[in-house]
Amino acid sequence: MHVHHLNCGSMRELGAVTLGDRELEPRPAVNHCLLVETDDGLVLVDTGFGMNDVRLGEATLGRSFVEMVAPRLDPEETAVRQVERLGFTRADVRHIVLTHLDVDHAGGLADFPRARVHVHEEELRAATGSNPLPPGTERYRSAHWAHGPAWVGYPASRAAGGETWFGFDAVRPLDGLPPDILLVPLGGHTRGHSGVAVRDSGGGREKWLLHAGDAYYFHGEMDPDEPVGHPELDAVQDSAEVDHALRLGNQARLRELVRLHGDEVSVFSAHDPWDLDRLSATTAPTAATAISTSTAAPAATEAGAGAGAGAGAGATADR
Ligand SMILES: [Zn+2]
Repeated sequence: MHVHHLNCGSMRELGAVTLGDRELEPRPAVNHCLLVETDDGLVLVDTGFGMNDVRLGEATLGRSFVEMVAPRLDPEETAVRQVERLGFTRADVRHIVLTHLDVDHAGGLADFPRARVHVHEEELRAATGSNPLPPGTERYRSAHWAHGPAWVGYPASRAAGGETWFGFDAVRPLDGLPPDILLVPLGGHTRGHSGVAVRDSGGGREKWLLHAGDAYYFHGEMDPDEPVGHPELDAVQDSAEVDHALRLGNQARLRELVRLHGDEVSVFSAHDPWDLDRLSATTAPTAATAISTSTAAPAATEAGAGAGAGAGAGATADR
């Protein structure tokens, strides 16, 4: 399966940070999504911000969220526009898999109204059920599913079965999708927060990707020996958690995954712009990409279409 790494929504700039002997430059936070080409159409992993968010801003995203993260809300960064730039149509996206239903992950759902939406059932209950979060909590926005998505929920309890994947249990293959895409429960940030594992076989390589969503925020946290957080991101993840012990436990499990299987699995989180840069650089163009961009600066457009904030601007300029 060929995998594209997309930034579906830039946000407030993150300050420079020192990691070992490296100095990371300031970069806007991203919404790292995956677009997976399968034999049965496209699968989108997380959706970032959608066209309704671009048009309506605070009305769909909530005022406190907009003030906190300062989303750029550029229509060219939406998943649907990027799908089209890659030479596909929105109807080609048959499935969406969500790490969770927070405002910055579910914003693009309405741009793909016919897709089946796969999510942990506990997350679905927390976001859409009859037991709402305390007043003033804006993490879930019902406007994002007002169109009535075709939800497919999955249980996370060990008692309900599931598979084992690199030491993680209660892992689920997804209905109607190949066994190369799996839902990996990683609770703590939200009730039913999950990672999404995707086996990437594009460009002649074969490696698992684990989209860890908001299970952690900064790649320095995954150093198995000396984990380092990003001060601004640490403040956000501490305030957003629903289960502290579960979140930290899952971070420890992810570090063990990196330690023991880092050569077989690339782990990344949703908002780290430096991770997106690293992984975008490994994306090879597909035939569809080459066809759709053959009339306009193919090299620059191909790199930009699959890449993040910086290179994505190049792709936009070509259109
Ligand atoms: Zn998030």
